[in-house]
Amino acid sequence: MSKTNIRVFKCPHCGKELSLKFYESVNVNDDEDLKRQVIAGDIFRFECDKCHYRFMACYDCLYHDPQKKFMVYLKSSPVDSQEQLRLLLDKGYVLRWVKDIGSFIEKIEILNDGLDDRAVEFAKYDSFIDYIQNKGKAEDVTGVYYQDYVDDILKIKIELDDKAITTMTPYEGLIQEMAEYPEMFKLDDPFFACVDPKWIIDIFEGAQAA
Ligand SMILES: [Zn+2]
Repeated sequence: MSKTNIRVFKCPHCGKELSLKFYESVNVNDDEDLKRQVIAGDIFRFECDKCHYRFMACYDCLYHDPQKKFMVYLKSSPVDSQEQLRLLLDKGYVLRWVKDIGSFIEKIEILNDGLDDRAVEFAKYDSFIDYIQNKGKAEDVTGVYYQDYVDDILKIKIELDDKAITTMTPYEGLIQEMAEYPEMFKLDDPFFACVDPKWIIDIFEGAQAA
């Protein structure tokens, strides 16, 4: 079951104190509508009832998909490792910690599509390096994101100032490459690990330094 609470939050525009519904946890078991709302970012979107200013408010939120067996925790500080989480890991759960709304949504999409998010970060990193080595400048890139996955092809979107380009990477090839270096791609935190661009950069920069 999902858990919500009402919190007082000041409108960033006019300062009126608003009572907003925040999801402490989201359980999407059999609730496709709620899942859509989360992926659209709607649970973080609000409108002031006085000045009608629209804004996004980020708050700690635990997303749980019991069918696909994963949890993504949006939290401003690291998640405490708790031994009872081992029960979930034993059931085959993937647990991830993310720090912002964009990463929260992207991570849910990746895990919802049944992918290994480490391979997706790998593909994002490769796509970025390929872009700056062969196509353009790093300063022009405003973001690198997971787009979608169809027929073994992982699509990554590179956003530039005025346009976006899509790269395509065979997913199985990445999985095989990672399997050759299990120590390299191992996660430090067995519980709510943070698998983000910094995580993959640290791996490759560490490999170069070694
Ligand atoms: Zn307002």
